[in-house]
Amino acid sequence: MKLDGIRKTLHQVDKIRYRPALLRKIANGYFRTLVLRKPTLRIVEFSINSACQSKCEYCYAAKFRRPGEQMLDVEEVRDIWLQASRMGAFCSLILGGEPTLHPKFLDLVAALEPRKNMVSFSTNCISLTEEMVVELKKLGVFVIYVSMNSTDAAVNDLVRGFEGHHAHVMRVLEICKRHGIDVVLPITTSKDLLPETIELVDFARANGLTASMGLLSPTGRAEGERDALFDADFWKTLRGLYDQNPSLRGDWDTNFTLEIGCPAGFEKIHVSPYGHVTGCAIQPMSFGSLRERPLASLVEEMRGFKHFAKRPKHCIVALDKEFIEDYLDPAIGEASTPYPIQNNPCAASDCAGCR
Ligand code: SF4
Repeated sequence: MKLDGIRKTLHQVDKIRYRPALLRKIANGYFRTLVLRKPTLRIVEFSINSACQSKCEYCYAAKFRRPGEQMLDVEEVRDIWLQASRMGAFCSLILGGEPTLHPKFLDLVAALEPRKNMVSFSTNCISLTEEMVVELKKLGVFVIYVSMNSTDAAVNDLVRGFEGHHAHVMRVLEICKRHGIDVVLPITTSKDLLPETIELVDFARANGLTASMGLLSPTGRAEGERDALFDADFWKTLRGLYDQNPSLRGDWDTNFTLEIGCPAGFEKIHVSPYGHVTGCAIQPMSFGSLRERPLASLVEEMRGFKHFAKRPKHCIVALDKEFIEDYLDPAIGEASTPYPIQNNPCAASDCAGCR
């Protein structure tokens, strides 16, 4: 397992531009984790809006909107990033909704210091123009996440809920090639979508792209879904696919620990559009608001949370039935997510479990 982690990490390092400040932070992260044995934050996901042109069947962000509440502004995002950066983070990934629809999208990117760090965003490509790509490159962005679900245009557009989505992706791939921007294909897979996933992995390999796989989780628009979920046996099958494809990686492959496992709370956090902190964008439980508490104190609490503290070896939102029942299913009754974890009786420190 450790060897797998090293291999995927080396592939990742190969894609990183040689920027002294960035390389120093990465080296420091490995030193703190492997030598000093101190957990070190690596990546922050920022969901910055909920507006989107697509209607993806399985959108995890479908309940992010909170009518009447103010979303984080550029200065708040800058302050959160500086706190995260002091805790070791060198990487940020901007998510939505569709981030490019945010009226201050470029200002938000700049606030994350893309010349000194690795700043990227995930886009459906529909509103991403060549001018925007040029501006992003000037700011220091060198990799973007381009989301698609199938190499077959009709299937892809059906899953994305937007006719012409596939054509926009092809247009943006060409633009990125012209401007020397690396592309990652984030692929969410499920039992039903596995054939398309294998085709997408081949497509990525043939076009020199990195593929990053996520597993369908019963959250957002897929709340309560069980049929398409993977099981622990399938996790092993999936590892075979990884081994055959060095450019394929998952969220769990590039830890400072060099171990394969869920990074939530330890190496990775997610910040919702309104400043609530969760273990990752898929998890619907908030540990608190950054408008009320500093990041360091929230992360300390997260590292004590039993499901994170045991450093699971797989993706808990997709494969851990107990976690799904205890923490994802309670979101079904909520009008918006994330919901406060304090409201979940399973999170109480004296809870011995109902089973
Ligand atoms: S649960 Fe862990 S492995 Fe799964 S998506 Fe979230 S952070 Fe990644």
